[in-house]
Amino acid sequence: MINILANDGISESAIELLREKGFNVTNEHINQDSLAESINKNNYEVILVRSATKIRKELIDKCPSIKLIGRGGVGMDNIDVEYAIDKGIKVINTPKASSLSVAELVFAHLFGMVRSLYDSNRKMPMDGEKDFKKLKKSYSSGKELFGKTIGIIGFGRIGQEVARIAIALGMKVLAHDKTISEANITIKFYDDSKKTFTIETDPINTVLEQSDFITLHIPKIDDKPVISAKEIKLMKTGAGIINTSRGGLIDEDILMFSLEKKKLAYAALDVFSNEPTPSIHLLMQENISLTPHIGAATREAQERVGIELAEKIIKFYNKK
Ligand code: NAD
Repeated sequence: MINILANDGISESAIELLREKGFNVTNEHINQDSLAESINKNNYEVILVRSATKIRKELIDKCPSIKLIGRGGVGMDNIDVEYAIDKGIKVINTPKASSLSVAELVFAHLFGMVRSLYDSNRKMPMDGEKDFKKLKKSYSSGKELFGKTIGIIGFGRIGQEVARIAIALGMKVLAHDKTISEANITIKFYDDSKKTFTIETDPINTVLEQSDFITLHIPKIDDKPVISAKEIKLMKTGAGIINTSRGGLIDEDILMFSLEKKKLAYAALDVFSNEPTPSIHLLMQENISLTPHIGAATREAQERVGIELAEKIIKFYNKK
């Protein structure tokens, strides 16, 4: 029997699908320090992770039983992929399963930003009873998203989902991508009708200069931030920026400075440089809408992730 360890959780339907095909699935979290020992003791051939568990070359070297590593999600920065492949281990991920969930989180932050919901939700429980009128006044210059321009940096899977929602909301879309020059964005309506828009990408400076909101959907290649002082300087005064991609893509110190100096009006972060212990200064900043890396964490996305992983494992072992 083939033993599978799902170390960062997997959906019940995926477990059921795998068990039906005769796999033995353990859905529990083993601490990073004890992982190699547990893999060897239980002869796990397949290890499934999300972003929490790290599969580095030391672990790969210690665990010769591993034949397949599965990442539920997109980013593979927690896995030494090339090393694993060199050792003959198959590495799979589920790149498409969570795109819509991440894109929807962008708009959760955006709608919250322009009406100061993040701040109102912090202050209403404490001060709403005694200072209702004062709070009402302080949140009285909200904005609508309709008609505003969103600048999407990274026009891959998630960037294009963001464009789809933005167009449906009546926003103008600008996009920049290192390799993609245009994309067809199809919006499906409730009555099954469709409309397709072709968006051509622009140089990054155009996108930074002309957008009311910038949202990042690029991978993290190295430690150098993609958005730093030079890029923020190009942005409109009073613009907002959202990072649901990877911590460190925006220089966090420069971001705080830009908010304090009111160059930027707001920011939203789902990802942080020093996860899982982000800077307290950043967390205490006014004008930042915060979530703890939950972009892909919807039931629907996790369901799709689990099923996609299960199907790929079944295919790998060629079980009819
Ligand atoms: P993707 O590969 O489909 O698209 C990324 C695009 O970025 C590509 O088209 C690529 O050409 C472009 N690109 C790369 N570097 C660039 C640069 N410096 N400037 C401009 N364009 C650049 O990836 P995706 O599925 O859309 O995912 C995007 C990001 O979202 C990834 O970093 C992923 O880790 C992150 N993500 C976060 C969460 C979350 O929970 N918050 C969940 C899923 C994915």
